[in-house]
Amino acid sequence: MELYNLKHPEQKVSFTEAVKLGLGRDRGLFFPTLIPVMDNIDELLNMPFVARSKAILGAWLAQEIGQNSVDRLVENAFNFELPLVSVDEKRACLELFHGPTLAFKDFGARFMAQCLNQLAVQERVTILTATSGDTGAAVADAFFGLDKIKVMVLYPKGKISALQEKMFTTLGDNIHTVAVESDFDACQDLVKAAFEDTEVRDELHLNSANSINISRLLAQICYYFEAVAQFKRSHSDDPVIAVPSGNFGNLTAGLFAKAMGLPIKRFVAATNSNDTVPRYLSDGTWSPKSTVATLSNAMDVAEPSNWPRVEAIVQAMGWSLKDIVGVALSEEETQAALSQLYQSGYLSEPHAAIAAQALTLTLQPGEHGIFLGTAHPAKFKDVVDSTLELDIPLPSELEAVKDKASLSVSLTPDFTVLKQHMLANL
Ligand SMILES: *Cc1c(COP(=O)(O)O)cnc(C)c1O
Repeated sequence: MELYNLKHPEQKVSFTEAVKLGLGRDRGLFFPTLIPVMDNIDELLNMPFVARSKAILGAWLAQEIGQNSVDRLVENAFNFELPLVSVDEKRACLELFHGPTLAFKDFGARFMAQCLNQLAVQERVTILTATSGDTGAAVADAFFGLDKIKVMVLYPKGKISALQEKMFTTLGDNIHTVAVESDFDACQDLVKAAFEDTEVRDELHLNSANSINISRLLAQICYYFEAVAQFKRSHSDDPVIAVPSGNFGNLTAGLFAKAMGLPIKRFVAATNSNDTVPRYLSDGTWSPKSTVATLSNAMDVAEPSNWPRVEAIVQAMGWSLKDIVGVALSEEETQAALSQLYQSGYLSEPHAAIAAQALTLTLQPGEHGIFLGTAHPAKFKDVVDSTLELDIPLPSELEAVKDKASLSVSLTPDFTVLKQHMLANL
């Protein structure tokens, strides 16, 4: 698989190199020179998830790393359920939260950890990642205990749910966590600054496990195929898919799936009031405002870093950005959507609820939609309980970390301070 740097097209790398580097020169994103098209979609849709995922990822990677390696990566990474659950006549939820940290990020993080473990065996690697919530847990869990890999996770202090924080700040061992006294965009800026600092980069062999890493996006393509496969068992039309979006890695993966030939009618990009993309889709001006904290905090991103890839796919395929529908919901609308789902008999959480409501607002007569369930309701217990006047039980994964002490240190959003901390502790 060959990829090029979207900012410097002359920089070309293999998949293995792209996984290790994360970003290209000048923070450019890597993008595939060629998107493989599957000519056996019907056959693929009839296969079980793991076998189908081997075929899909094999189409991208087998030439470079061999199909046997692909098979091993997939078997190790994808070992949990992903049911498509019907909510009402028009809508179903693809539940992507049955992995070890109860969020869809387990798919990408586990696949990436397997890739690094298999492809970079000779080297010591430091994972430096910023999280607005679920990435931290997924990455920490996926890399925990791997002896050649150290992990440092930055997150905005006080801006993620207490339980979410406990899932990745209590592990210790090779997992280091930093609460940054600012917002998620500041965390992303610090990560970017670290990657630009030659001393830090070379000494620690930095790697970002954020959704900018191409391995994570490839992994996520697989569940779009599963969504359509399950959908097609009871529908003859093609689904509209609504994606609760923050950094837009998830939507990027969906567009790759469609580009590979998967029948998806269209995508709905659903956000909270961090609505840079919906505004851009409606008026063509890219004008990020500062990040606002919302109930769906894993989507509190004002400058989504995967957006250049979305544009690159649309351009490569000769599609139009007009085919992507943008919907942004306020806090009140988010809570109303969560209540409405509950009244339909479906317990959800704020992120998925935004996507579910985006379908209701945009589905045309006769159409059916799938929204992606990106996190387990219990991960957002505070919001869910207060909105629905419930006291939902904690699953065992959360119960286990609830009373453990956080091992994080707090730092100001200043790169010099972070740099010192990194060089001293990693
Ligand atoms: C990360 C996350 C999102 C946003 O996904 P992107 O790929 O960054 O757009 C949505 N919901 C939840 C629960 C998340 O953790």
